[in-house]
Amino acid sequence: MRQTQKVMLAFSEATTSELNEILEHRFFKEKKSPKSKSKTSLSKQQSTAPMSAIKQENSGTKNIYEIIKQMRLERNAPVDLVGPQKCFDQDKDIETQRFQILTSLMLSPQTKDDVTSKCANRLLEYTINDIANMDEPDLIKLIYEVNFNVTKAKRIKDLAQLAIYKGMPKTFEETIKIKGVGEKIALLYIQVAFQRVEGIPIDVNMIRICNRVPIFKEKSPTKLRKFLESQFEHKEWGEINETLVGFGQQICLPKPKCDQCKLKDICEYYKLQNTSDQ
Ligand code: SF4
Repeated sequence: MRQTQKVMLAFSEATTSELNEILEHRFFKEKKSPKSKSKTSLSKQQSTAPMSAIKQENSGTKNIYEIIKQMRLERNAPVDLVGPQKCFDQDKDIETQRFQILTSLMLSPQTKDDVTSKCANRLLEYTINDIANMDEPDLIKLIYEVNFNVTKAKRIKDLAQLAIYKGMPKTFEETIKIKGVGEKIALLYIQVAFQRVEGIPIDVNMIRICNRVPIFKEKSPTKLRKFLESQFEHKEWGEINETLVGFGQQICLPKPKCDQCKLKDICEYYKLQNTSDQ
């Protein structure tokens, strides 16, 4: 009997509590031991995070951000045009749209936006049921261009089965428990699918930019998120990810185009590069 059939049979024969246990093991990350720090409640982290933990507060953060916004007026970076959070079919029912948004975001790690978009658009042709019942090799073929396609196919198929038996997650806490979903994806999903901004999603572009200028010298996404959230009013949080990611895709690339950048005069990375070149 194929794995999918076994899972379906297990679902159909299970009582409610057994079903919850099956779902818990199959789709969700393992629970942390009581001693380890919980990652499931962002609001709790925010309310208990002492401001003294933010060591490198930079009063110029908002000014730097305004300069970056000026450089981003055209909004024509990959994240603006084909960002994973834009890849869903607005004509479909709301549950399907939520599934498509989270699927697209789960395809995106370690993959360029145009490649993610191509694969996510292919999946728009299929219903949640289609994907839940699809053989994994067929699903892998549909998303073969994304990195880690084997693992991502498994996670997306699991998500489809979860959507059928439990419904799509509706909160950050529910979303981040799902295998294959981290803080950034959970925040973007809640922001796009429910229009609720619960935090600033941090990606690798943002870490690179913030460490170079510097805005905040820290490699930890969670610490950077808390720092940025301390610097901006909540109403501004929703646009910060897209603004900085696009800047990182077009100008402050891994190999930066500093000659096009209005931050040259204050950027430590630029000064360092140009001093060491002399
Ligand atoms: S000057 Fe160069 S390194 Fe500095 S922020 Fe601009 S593009 Fe990035």
